[in-house]
Amino acid sequence: MSDPRIGLLAFQGDYEAHGKAFARTGIASITVVEVRRLSDLENIDALIIPGGESTVMGMLLERFGMFETLKTRIEQGMPVLATCAGLILLAKNIEGSGQTRLGVLDVTVLRNAYGRQIDSFHAPVQTNIPQIGTIDGVFIRAPKITAVGKGTEIIATHQNETVMVRQGSIVAATFHPELLPGAPLHRWFIQSFLLQTRG
Ligand code: GLN
Repeated sequence: MSDPRIGLLAFQGDYEAHGKAFARTGIASITVVEVRRLSDLENIDALIIPGGESTVMGMLLERFGMFETLKTRIEQGMPVLATCAGLILLAKNIEGSGQTRLGVLDVTVLRNAYGRQIDSFHAPVQTNIPQIGTIDGVFIRAPKITAVGKGTEIIATHQNETVMVRQGSIVAATFHPELLPGAPLHRWFIQSFLLQTRG
């Protein structure tokens, strides 16, 4: 079987940092490709939705006719790793906003929830993933996850607040693991969702 292909949704935002994080894992048996149009969605086995502006990404998914196909692929189980704006784009509920969202992840989020004065900071994040443990979370105009649905597991917290969740093959964080010096989350994502079922 050919190497798994990981797509980076590359409209805007910090998708390049995710590409570099995958390179830092040193796992050679994956290919990372940029996704900008509908046909790009056909040839990927997983998708990264980066930080950036969730409103812009939602609008562009619709404008480029990718919205329905992407939503269906995620519903059918394509693994997704989403950070910050990516999490917002996946969320079912966004407090006080009618913006376009994929609505596939059963959480409620509040955008820019840490307030202007500290809209960027870093702080320890405790994960329940043994290979990852506690990491330094970089929060940049981050949302908060204010409610989590039944089928959605909380996999990381910061000061007892939920900062990363998993629902099936969807992993979504309010912070930016792609900015860590290593890439423990990216490594775990590949190993958990892309290499295990392959020979
Ligand atoms: N505030 C942005 C949004 O609501 C997210 C910020 C980020 O991705 N770093 O889309």
